[in-house]
Amino acid sequence: MQKEILLTLKNASVQYGGIQALNNVTINIDEGEIVALMGPNGSGKTTTLKALFGISSLSSGEVLWQGQKVDPKPYEMVSRGITYVPQGRQVFKNLTVYENLELGGYALPNKSDVKNNIEESLKFFPALREKLSVKAGLLSGGQQQMLTIARGLISDPKVLLLDEPSLGLSPKIVKEVFEKIKEINELRKIAVVIVEHSIKSVLSVSSKVFVLSQGSIAFFGNKEELESGNVLENVFLAKK
Ligand code: ATP
Repeated sequence: MQKEILLTLKNASVQYGGIQALNNVTINIDEGEIVALMGPNGSGKTTTLKALFGISSLSSGEVLWQGQKVDPKPYEMVSRGITYVPQGRQVFKNLTVYENLELGGYALPNKSDVKNNIEESLKFFPALREKLSVKAGLLSGGQQQMLTIARGLISDPKVLLLDEPSLGLSPKIVKEVFEKIKEINELRKIAVVIVEHSIKSVLSVSSKVFVLSQGSIAFFGNKEELESGNVLENVFLAKK
C-alpha cells in the first residue's frame, strides 16, 4: 500500500544573517517511517528540523503538511501532529516528571486527553511512572532524555522530530533510547526524524537516510545504498 507523505520541506533555504544554513533542501517524511538525518557539525541538521517545525524562517522554499502548503508556526504544527524534541535534554528541572508531561499537552483543546495521553505515553516508560512526583532535575541523564521523548508523545503526534537523542549519554543508555524509539514507531505508527551523530545507532532503526553537507543534501537513499557507497567518508572527510 502506498504510504501517505506527511511532512515535506521543499527547496528550502535558511539564512542566519550572512550565513547560509540551508540551501535548496528537499525532504519528505512518509507516515510511519524512521528517517535519519546525518552530516558533520554545522551542516544544517538542526536547522532542517527547526524549518520543518517553524522555528527557523525560510528565505525561500516551503513546508507542506499532507501535501498542502502551510505557514509553519510551532504551536500550529503541534496541533497538526508534529512534535519537536530539541537536543540537550530540555526538561523543566524544577517541575515534577508529571508536570513536565502535562506541558506536552499544552496544545490539546480537551484537557481530559492530556491525562489519557500521559497514561498511554507512560506505557513505554515504566521507569518514569515510578518517578512522577520527582523533580525532573533529579533524574539521571538517560531518564531526562526519556522524559523529553515521553513528553513529545502527549500531543499524540504523527511525526516526532528528535534532535540528537544520544547526546551525552553512555552507550548502554543510547541503546535503550533507540530501542524505545523503535518501539514507539512500531506500536504507535509514528513517523520519526532523527538527527544523529551516532551513525551506528541511527542506522540500526532507520529506513531512509539523508546526509547533509554544508547546508545541502549530499545523499538521499536507503541504508543499503548508503553503506554500499563511500558517502559518509566523503562527506565527513571533506569537512576536515
Ligand atoms: P551540529 O551537528 O553541530 O548540531 P547542525 O548540522 O545541526 O550542527 P545547524 O545547527 O543547523 O547545524 O547549523 C547550520 C549553520 O548555521 C552553522 O554554520 C551554524 O553555525 C549556523 N547557525 C545555526 N544557528 C544559528 C543562529 N541562531 N544564528 C547564526 N548562525 C546559526
